[in-house]
Amino acid sequence: MKKVLSLLLTGVLLAAAGCSNSGNSDSKTIGVAIYKFDDTFMTGVRNAIQEAAKGKVKVDIVDSQNDQPTQNDKVNLFISKRVSALAINPVDRTAAGVIIDKAKQANVPVVFFNREPLKEDMQKWDKVYYVGAKAEESGTLSGEIIADYFKSHPEADKNKDGVLQYVMLKGEPGHQDAELRTKYSIMAVEKAGIKVQKLAEDTAMWDRVKGQEKMAAFLSAHGDKIEAVFANNDDMALGAIEALKAKGYFKNNKFMPVVGVDATAPALQALKEGTLLGTVLNDAKNQGKATLALAQVLSQGQTPTKENIGYEITDGKYVWIPYKKITKENMNEVK
Ligand code: BGC
Repeated sequence: MKKVLSLLLTGVLLAAAGCSNSGNSDSKTIGVAIYKFDDTFMTGVRNAIQEAAKGKVKVDIVDSQNDQPTQNDKVNLFISKRVSALAINPVDRTAAGVIIDKAKQANVPVVFFNREPLKEDMQKWDKVYYVGAKAEESGTLSGEIIADYFKSHPEADKNKDGVLQYVMLKGEPGHQDAELRTKYSIMAVEKAGIKVQKLAEDTAMWDRVKGQEKMAAFLSAHGDKIEAVFANNDDMALGAIEALKAKGYFKNNKFMPVVGVDATAPALQALKEGTLLGTVLNDAKNQGKATLALAQVLSQGQTPTKENIGYEITDGKYVWIPYKKITKENMNEVK
């Protein structure tokens, strides 16, 4: 009889633990996966998430090492540990659908950030959200910086043909920010009434060293025919500046307009030194804060609203953080 009773009791306890998750230490943890830790901008977002979580909720942040299968394993582990919500920066944004299926099956809400899942994947479940910035906007703003410069500096048209000869350093192909920044930056220059000619375009995968290598190759092929450098992010722009310095630029009145996106600390330093012409603030702090706020509200079983997360929600699923044009003149506005 005693044995039956103790078995029953164990059963009741197990059932209770299963229902409420109360026996599980991860039941109030948010599982966060970053596409790779070794990315300047994402380090800013990661720090912002950590900062926002302080004293509020536990976060477990993991490195997916730029490998989607590794990220899928990390997500499986989070789900088996019963985290209360997921915040995912996908390695491959087209892989979000698989993650959503898994999360839905386990009823764990998921907030994607920085790498936007396809629209049809976002529609798979109502507990799926996205935090990011409109890539088109950053493209337009960086294009406007170059257009303004070209208009106010006639000497920038080195061969006086009335056409802006440029090179483009692209981020990772397929990334919404790489594709749209490339397209919209040039559209903005054309919209300003300036004719353009692309001398070269290549991906440097968001990476500073690769940016330097690709720019060195552009310079070998096109030399002083290049009149402007567009980079989809600051790290690649800074790499390009290194390659330009090696060719004698930024001294003795030899200048090259270079624009990036992000407004990272080293980019602000380059603005100050006068090597980088301009950048666009990609607001890591607010992207991190909004991601955490959404995940926390969802983990409490509530429906996110502007009131409980502090950010406007568009189409019931998207939080868009605005970009801002940054040049030497207003760089003090970036903290
Ligand atoms: C940033 C890049 C970053 C990438 C990572 C972009 O929004 O501008 O600097 O490497 O996100 O996904």
